[in-house]
Amino acid sequence: MNVIKNLILGSGPAGLTAAIYSSRSNLEPVLLSGKEPGGQLTITSLVENFPGFENGILGPKLMNSMRQQAINVGTKIIDDIATSVDFSKKPFVVSTERNGDLYANTIIISTGASAKWLGLDGEKRLMGKGVSGCATCDGAFFKEKTVAVVGGGDSAMEDSLFVSKFASKVYLIHRRDEFRASRVMQDRVRNNQKIEILFNSEVKDIKGEDKVVSIDILNNKTGENKNIAIDGIFIAIGHLPNTSIFKGQLDIDDNGYIKVHDFTKTNIPGVFAAGDVSDPKYKQAISSAGMGCIASIDSLHFLEDNNFIQ
Ligand SMILES: Cc1cc2nc3c(=O)[nH]c(=O)nc-3n(C[C@H](O)[C@H](O)[C@H](O)COP(=O)(O)OP(=O)(O)OC[C@H]3O[C@@H](n4cnc5c(N)ncnc54)[C@H](O)[C@@H]3O)c2cc1C
Repeated sequence: MNVIKNLILGSGPAGLTAAIYSSRSNLEPVLLSGKEPGGQLTITSLVENFPGFENGILGPKLMNSMRQQAINVGTKIIDDIATSVDFSKKPFVVSTERNGDLYANTIIISTGASAKWLGLDGEKRLMGKGVSGCATCDGAFFKEKTVAVVGGGDSAMEDSLFVSKFASKVYLIHRRDEFRASRVMQDRVRNNQKIEILFNSEVKDIKGEDKVVSIDILNNKTGENKNIAIDGIFIAIGHLPNTSIFKGQLDIDDNGYIKVHDFTKTNIPGVFAAGDVSDPKYKQAISSAGMGCIASIDSLHFLEDNNFIQ
């Protein structure tokens, strides 16, 4: 049986950084890229907050370079998807869609989280052209502009407050008649002069050719339709961690995130998690990459401590 020393699931910033480190530690890592090679940054345009690029870099270009860097230092990348896992066996077993079962002494899970979207045509078409799922990443592009934030939880409150530092006007749009965010966050939003709250409101369309210009909103109480001119829209209705195949195998929290201790260790020794899949809070490319680095070093120590390598 061929046993992989270090098997990495996912090819976003966390997985590819782990792969680069593991290759350079002679762990001969194998990486499954999943159905979204390059991860979430492949659906955005300019990334201005990843260090090392003085004028920013396009998301897909950044991820292509990371992939090529991982290959250049020796990572074997397989374009396939993990369909199930068995962490009760040693070596661990990962079943794939097209390459059968893989066996590994350590696993790094970096399968990310998928932002939830409204499902509108304009949303896909104008992604990175005014539509964003990340206020921390893109808020600064909207200096003195008018933007909308959609959602009613703490993330939507945080995103509205964050973008209000740049934008001249923020519409906070929520489909119910009250927020589910914490009281303190709601109070901060209500006390912010730039934020106008629109309750009972649903975004029905995002308009614009090359960039967002307006949205159509339906008031689900009065039935009134209106069009509001905006320059950008942030969708803050939550994330879904890609963890369905790990349920029953690992400790997972109520929102689906893998629970970790000491940064990347799961409840199964030898199985590590890095990036958005175990991070409900920061969700950034650079923090994911940092966790990928830590998970690789943790894997090296595990392999040494358990005499899998000298
Ligand atoms: C529109 C948008 C813009 C953003 N802009 C920025 C920005 O400007 N700056 C910034 O720092 N952050 C930004 N982010 C956030 C950033 O993209 C994420 O924090 C980061 O990509 C998380 O990296 P990750 O490696 O943990 O996971 P992801 O990037 O989500 O990658 C997950 C990987 O796992 C793979 N995978 C999933 N399931 C399986 C499986 N079963 N088997 C094998 N592989 C699997 C996927 O194919 C994918 O390759 C943005 C996010 C979005 C959505």
